[in-house]
Amino acid sequence: MANKWVYLFTEGDASMRNLLGGKGANLAEMTNIGLPVPQGFTITTEACTQYYEDGREINEEIQAQINEYIGKMEEITGKKFGDHENPLLVSVRSGARASMPGMMDTILNLGLNEEVVNVIAEKSGNARWAWDCYRRFIQMYSDVVMEVGKKYFETLIDEMKEKKGVKLDVELDADDLKELANQFKAEYKDKIGADFPDDPKEQLMGAIKAVFRSWDNPRANVYRRDNDIPYSWGTAVNVQSMAFGNMGDDCGTGVAFTRDPATGEKGLFGEFLTNAQGEDVVAGVRTPMHINEMADKFPEAFKQFNEVCKTLENHYRDMQDMEFTVEHGKLYMLQTRNGKRTAQAALKIACDLVDEGMRTPEEAVAMIDPRNLDTLLHPQFDAEALKKAEPLAKALAASPGAACGKIVFTAEDAKEWAARGEKVVLVRLETSPEDIEGMKAAQGILTVRGGMTSHAAVVARGMGTCCVSGCSDIAMDEENKKFVLAGKEFHEGDALSIDGSTGKIYDGIIPTVDATIAGEFGRIMGWADQYRRLKVRTNADTPADARKARELGAEGIGLCRTEHMFFEGNRIDAFREMICSETIEEREAALEKILPEQQGDFEKLYEALEGNPVCIRFLDPPLHEFVPTTEEDIKKLADAQGKSVETIKNIIASLHEFNPMMGHRGCRLAVTYPEIAKMQTKAVIRAAINVQKAHPDWTVEPEIMIPLVGDIKELKYVKNFVVETADAEIAAAGIELKYQVGTMIEIPRAALTADDIAKEAEFFCFGTNDLTQMTYGFSRDDAGKFLNAYYDAKIFENDPFAKLDQVGVGKLMKMAIELGKPVRPELHVGICGEHGGDPSSVEFCHKIGLDYVSCSPFRVPIARLAAAQAAIKNPRK
Ligand code: ADP
Ligand code: MG
Ligand code: MG
Repeated sequence: MANKWVYLFTEGDASMRNLLGGKGANLAEMTNIGLPVPQGFTITTEACTQYYEDGREINEEIQAQINEYIGKMEEITGKKFGDHENPLLVSVRSGARASMPGMMDTILNLGLNEEVVNVIAEKSGNARWAWDCYRRFIQMYSDVVMEVGKKYFETLIDEMKEKKGVKLDVELDADDLKELANQFKAEYKDKIGADFPDDPKEQLMGAIKAVFRSWDNPRANVYRRDNDIPYSWGTAVNVQSMAFGNMGDDCGTGVAFTRDPATGEKGLFGEFLTNAQGEDVVAGVRTPMHINEMADKFPEAFKQFNEVCKTLENHYRDMQDMEFTVEHGKLYMLQTRNGKRTAQAALKIACDLVDEGMRTPEEAVAMIDPRNLDTLLHPQFDAEALKKAEPLAKALAASPGAACGKIVFTAEDAKEWAARGEKVVLVRLETSPEDIEGMKAAQGILTVRGGMTSHAAVVARGMGTCCVSGCSDIAMDEENKKFVLAGKEFHEGDALSIDGSTGKIYDGIIPTVDATIAGEFGRIMGWADQYRRLKVRTNADTPADARKARELGAEGIGLCRTEHMFFEGNRIDAFREMICSETIEEREAALEKILPEQQGDFEKLYEALEGNPVCIRFLDPPLHEFVPTTEEDIKKLADAQGKSVETIKNIIASLHEFNPMMGHRGCRLAVTYPEIAKMQTKAVIRAAINVQKAHPDWTVEPEIMIPLVGDIKELKYVKNFVVETADAEIAAAGIELKYQVGTMIEIPRAALTADDIAKEAEFFCFGTNDLTQMTYGFSRDDAGKFLNAYYDAKIFENDPFAKLDQVGVGKLMKMAIELGKPVRPELHVGICGEHGGDPSSVEFCHKIGLDYVSCSPFRVPIARLAAAQAAIKNPRK
């Protein structure tokens, strides 16, 4: 049997999301539960994939099915494409599996041409409406087909408004709109070199093709990469008969949430615009009214809408985000989906749904996107400083968090400035999908126009970026990059602070403080901890980081990078003396100076961890990273050593390496300079002894991690004198103290020979940063230069340094565990690369049986939640 590429709304349901896309599946589901949905059909995501396989063509089989379904749709609606009695007009809407708001373009009123527009003008007695529909159709169709951006047509509209001396679109009359339609068509012909298509079927095929094509536009690609959406999924296309919100003042269009997407508060939240169509509400062309004001103007439709909201929430058991249109007082539902929300709202809604009996705690844990939590862990304004600050203005609190930085006026500038390391606040009249990358680069976004559902607000919430929208007090001059607010003129580069939780805007920089886990956040985390099997540790080098991580729930330190401790204060001086020593005696003398300092640091770390495991990695980086570079420092070192400047310079030159990443580093340092590792062993053990004595009820059991091992003999060689040194210290102290010596698995050879390595190593910890670098054979410091080309060529969808390459690097990890565990059953295994805080990588770690993941302090809650979700999704057999 031939493939089925097209489904009527009556043929689908919510479970068919993969095939019909989110929008299509939910349109079908709403149809099934009897809600008023304009009918139509969905062309599947598989058809999109097929389109790409066929070299970006819709093949004949699919075209034939589309034509067949147009026939069915004509039957259902009693209208006909291009008919002079009862013409069918449709919308063409994209809809992927995961919602990608604003990513792909919708075309409304398709089916119109010069004749049909006259038919509907006459039949309805509403010529203004007819021409409004037509000019919108030409505008949207041209934009999608020509990919010129909406700007050009908007300029024509603005010119027309100016000519007529009116301010709003709705004030333009039928003749004005007719003239605009003609201007648009002329522009189309000019750019495309052909007449604007009159045949509805030709229009439809062109539109469907454009939607398929838009799956691969740069905005969509960026959004997918940020949201872990595979390219291979494709988008579905929905063809739906039109409901008209632009037929007069008893019509309108709106968007609404069943709960506040910013706070999670229960209750209708949204906006409505009379005599409008499509994206007018979102685009910020007019300021919409609050959804509750509908009660007076459209009492019947409003009542019905409230019922629909209840039905949908109970049905999906989640907060819904809906789009609807009222045509002559009658309600039509156009979309519903589980609404995007801030992290704060996500936590509140999940807890409320549990309290309302709609969800179990397990489901509540599963429904929160761990990546979202990041925003809650972002800084807030310092309360004291905030009290003293006088806001310049207050606008909509569109996406929470605090942001301060320098003002920029374009997305390009935001990107450029951020790349230079500047913190910026992007200030714009309004934003559009072209601005995505700049919005991402900014600390915060401030817009002059638009409501809570404007593009800026929706996208910022999705990205977890602070946003204040609709600040109409700003007199904006985008062209000259300046604006006036509260009587003051602001220019590019001036400092500004905005509070996305209150909507307040402040002059200058307000200091920020870190966030904590409390309330609903704590409740969800508590539930998460009940379900997860993976332990969560942290990567911390300082007692302050360690304490923060403990507060956020870390159960140990998975990686303490000791090299960071050598840079502090004037320790670097002693360390440089050590590196530039020419005899063992000289070197040991220098190390003697460092020992007590390191011991002190370790004591503080053990204290902060209160008896939880602490894993300390011995010195890892190439030594030349530490040598002095300025003449002054070189002279200082020469004097301290009693050597000539020239001698020091020669020593420095001799440390130069062509490829330091693969050079004299890691355990190779311990092999060449055992006294460094011995000093570090003493510091680790002495600190442990002291803290154990001070806290007899804790178990202090340090883990010593030898980095960059590739051969069992390397590890054995180093381990021997580490153990010798440690045992001597313990014996001298006359105390019981256990400790472990293990290794980082970060060289492919270590993974390949893990059965050997496990004979000596008491634990493995995957250093997936280096392991990724060494497995792919590209430098993590240089990959940035070519990764973009890899994304564009679809060789990579993600940065393998951020998201674990499960196929290759993951295979090495799996192999190492399978080889290591049988040799030493009590072997414990963790991961401490950047991937330890990435949710999909955490799930992989759960599946291959790691004992813990270790990540930076602020990602600990993310890892806890991701670990719980991994356990819920992959129950033990
Ligand atoms: P997006 O995914 O960007 O939200 P949609 O496909 O939902 O795009 O379309 C955007 C808007 O266009 C809808 O919110 C709705 O207002 C309008 N629209 C789409 N289809 C129809 C239709 N059949 N009748 C009336 N309005 C429609
Ligand atoms: Mg929509
Ligand atoms: Mg490493």
